[in-house]
Parts: sequence; structure tokens; C-alpha cells
Amino acid sequence: MSWIENRFEEGLIITSLDWAINWGRKNSIWPMTFGLACCAIEMMAVGASRFDIDRFGAGAFRASPRQSDLMIVAGTVTYKMASRLKRLYNQMPEPKYVIAMGACTIGGGPYFKHGYHVVKGVDLVVPVDVYIPGCPPRPEALLEGLMRLQDKITHQTRAKNPMSRLKESALA
Ligand code: SF4
Repeated sequence: MSWIENRFEEGLIITSLDWAINWGRKNSIWPMTFGLACCAIEMMAVGASRFDIDRFGAGAFRASPRQSDLMIVAGTVTYKMASRLKRLYNQMPEPKYVIAMGACTIGGGPYFKHGYHVVKGVDLVVPVDVYIPGCPPRPEALLEGLMRLQDKITHQTRAKNPMSRLKESALA
């Protein structure tokens, strides 16, 4: 959508387009098939019948980053894995989102003090949209995190950024 982004002021057409595009995006968030440690078991439970992530249109776990909208970082991120994680993130098409699931992913968790091999927060590697604390977070918590991500997508706009407008008027 880069051809339309930041070009037009907010108005009926842009807000209607925003509504339609955001509605489509938030109801078809395809996650990457990607798990790092025990938290990934909870993520798998979310995909199964009891919790059924398909109700949110997010059940199509993709085997390739090129077809994924969402990276759920579920588990301990080691320094060895961090470069692979970054590469997978770079291969995802825009717009892309990241959920940091579990204490290990958010800040090192139980390995914070003595785990010399553990990254102390995945936000040091990739930008994170939603954090889900817990060790491990329950599947319901992941569904809650997904709904918060949907809220975030709902409020995205392609209208001209007010900050860029301010910058333009300052330059004029
Ligand atoms: S937060 Fe807990 S459950 Fe999740 S990967 Fe770390 S140790 Fe395992």
C-alpha cells in the first residue's frame, strides 16, 4: 500500500479504505510456523481444537516467512538463534508484526542472571508489537495478545501523518 500511504489528507475515501484494508488484515493474520522452546507448546495448543485460533482467522500457520504476517517468538532466544530470527523477520513481507510470548522472550526469564547465552529481550533483535508475560503464558493469554494486535491494526491509517504535515509547514 506504499503508493497511497502518507499522500492524502484524512477524508471519507481514505477512512473508508482504511476500514476495509484493516478489516481484511486483522482477520487474516497468518503466523509463521516457528517455536523456540517450551512456550511453543502453548502456541501449538492455541492452534488445536480446544482454543481454536482459526476463530480469529489466524490459524493458517505458514511454513515460509515470505507468506507470514506474524512472528510469534515463543521461547528462549539464544544468541546463536538471534541472527536466524532476524533473518526470518527480514524475509517477511510488510506489513509484519511480532508477538513476544513468555518471560524468556521478553527479558531473558529464568536465564536473566546466569544465562550468558540468552538474549535479554527479543526487542533487542526485532521490533515487538505485543508482549505476553508469563512462564509459560496460557493459550488464552496468547489469544488475548492476538486480539490486542487486531486492535492495533484496526487503528492503522494511510492518511498523511500529522507529524509530516508539521514538518512540511516548518520547512515552508
Ligand atoms: S518463559 Fe518459561 S515456558 Fe516459556 S520458554 Fe521460558 S522457561 Fe520455557
